[in-house]
Amino acid sequence: MTAAVFAFSNNQDATATEKPFVYSVDKFADIEILRYQVSDFEKLSLKQKEMIYYLSQASIEGRDILFDQNHKNNLTIRRTLEAIYINYKGDRNTSDFKNFTIYLKQIWMGNGIHHHYSEDKFTPKFSKKFFVDAVRSVQTQCIAIVRPGETITKFIARISPIIFDATLYAKRTNQEAGVDLIQTSANNYYEGVTQAEVENFYAKMKNPADNTPISYGLNSKLAKEKGVITEKTYRIGGMYSAAIERIVKWLTKASEVAENNKQREIIETLIAFYTTGDLKTFDQYAIKWVQDIDSQIDFINGFTESYGDPLGMKASWESLINFKNIEATKRTQIISNNAQWFEDNSPIDAKFRKETVKGVSAKVITAAMLGGDCYPATPIGVNLPNSNWIRRDYGSKSVTIENITEAYDKASLGNGFAEEFMWSNIEIERAKKFASLTNNLHTDLHECLGHGSGKLLPGVDPDALKAYGSTLEEARADLFGLYYMGDPIMIKLGLLPSDEAYKAEYYQFLMNGLMTQLTRIKPGKNIEEAHMRNRQLIASWVFEKGAVDKVIEMKQRNGETYVVVNDYVKVRALFGQLLAQIQEIKSTGNFEKGKELVESYAVKVNPVLHAEILGRYEKLHLAPYRGFVNPVYTLVKDKSGKITDVKVSYTENYVDQHLRYSKKYSVLPNYN
Ligand code: ZN
Repeated sequence: MTAAVFAFSNNQDATATEKPFVYSVDKFADIEILRYQVSDFEKLSLKQKEMIYYLSQASIEGRDILFDQNHKNNLTIRRTLEAIYINYKGDRNTSDFKNFTIYLKQIWMGNGIHHHYSEDKFTPKFSKKFFVDAVRSVQTQCIAIVRPGETITKFIARISPIIFDATLYAKRTNQEAGVDLIQTSANNYYEGVTQAEVENFYAKMKNPADNTPISYGLNSKLAKEKGVITEKTYRIGGMYSAAIERIVKWLTKASEVAENNKQREIIETLIAFYTTGDLKTFDQYAIKWVQDIDSQIDFINGFTESYGDPLGMKASWESLINFKNIEATKRTQIISNNAQWFEDNSPIDAKFRKETVKGVSAKVITAAMLGGDCYPATPIGVNLPNSNWIRRDYGSKSVTIENITEAYDKASLGNGFAEEFMWSNIEIERAKKFASLTNNLHTDLHECLGHGSGKLLPGVDPDALKAYGSTLEEARADLFGLYYMGDPIMIKLGLLPSDEAYKAEYYQFLMNGLMTQLTRIKPGKNIEEAHMRNRQLIASWVFEKGAVDKVIEMKQRNGETYVVVNDYVKVRALFGQLLAQIQEIKSTGNFEKGKELVESYAVKVNPVLHAEILGRYEKLHLAPYRGFVNPVYTLVKDKSGKITDVKVSYTENYVDQHLRYSKKYSVLPNYN
């Protein structure tokens, strides 16, 4: 057991004189825009701050690459709309102009004319007449957007259908089987080629005997030109050269202030890749990157994830600049270091315990800048690289982006959700005080220990629980975490600040499992998804078993239902009992018992309660999707021009940020 360390950071608790950090920035269509706080940036060294500054500049420079990758007309359309937004002299209070503004905000959010999540084309709610008049009124500002020799009338005729015809370029990435996925996808990874031609092209390149293959096609567009299929590689001197040159310029500056030689080499290898486009160099870069676990600053910059290509080869450009949250990473290290103690003391039958456990360590990071496909919508965790053989031979890096989850949590606290569904101020205040920390800690326990705990008896088939396996596995991991959240060991290890904190997690978990997660289920449907089944299984089992002692009650107030927890100590004991049962089911591969548990508690929805919850949720008008604005970094220089500091500010709004990015970091041609 390690010495006690207070592994939670208090930087959110602003002192009385400081203004509280405002998380919610903007709201439109189905989107809410949040801000994230780069806590402890001030504590970095000047060199580290400088490095983040340069990397953050590189991360904005790639924005236009993603727009163009998503669809070949995206830059033209965005630039046209921005020209209207900035220069329009007509009435800005008409519903047409307001709807036009919403559409432009959606395009910034989607990095193009398609929704970032559904990938469906946005439907404009302004009239075509408004659009035509508006373009004409700002045509002098559109000169750079119109093709050479093209009249404004022809330009409007060319662009309008892309915006207004719902059937044209309807889906960014088509995954529906049975049609040509390449020809039915509106993205710009391919042009003039069929799916069969693409598959043929790459099949010929691949060698099945190659144990360390490159990621074929990762950094190029495949196009047929004059009847010949060729790869147009993203590199200096190739496709997207203008933007890549700028990225490389900033990366070079970053390499000059690198924390250590290893990190400098990583950046230099990335620059070599951008210069040549050689995918062997990309692999060398990925291997160096995955092995660097000591540097505090870390970054993603490049062609990374391939979700945008229906064939999963071409990668979209993205960037995430971050630094290790040393305090929070201590938390995962403490958990990992004590893994054996947790296993030895878990409330399961001794014969199902693991003799030796190995804790999984993961690092917790603070995002300093989001770019490309990580902006405005962003993941809360990343696990890279994607190359299978590099993962096999060198492992992968797994990170939790804690200041992003923190922003989600804090923003949710102010949106009326807790006030609507929680029983009293005690639960609301507890959530405000502890929920960010306890949510993260529960995730850590779930991931680092829960899934790895326990063992199968000899000869038991790991797939014995079949379709019920993943629900029961998630329940096992959640229960392991829940049980220990309420253990005094959490305070002893410095993982929780008081014996009140765990109650925040217990209450939210039970409220979610018994009621509020039903907001994601359509009326008349049962629960299908494994994580949701797991939550209802745990919550309703504990509710039922504790009924005699009124451990948990479902109380009515003004015709609305609330979860009331009367005895947290007994809740914890019940979590332990259920963990023991589920571990036994898993260890012995008892399919019948597992099925009975899931079918009795996890699947069915009470239609009356469901309707009530949906009605209450709808009244809150919450946005189902969220994106972010970035902070603004500024170099501070003395009279001689020497950099003395880097300042971070959080005042830029969503519109200003995108207009600034489009003005200062936009060097690609309209068509690439
Ligand atoms: Zn899990």
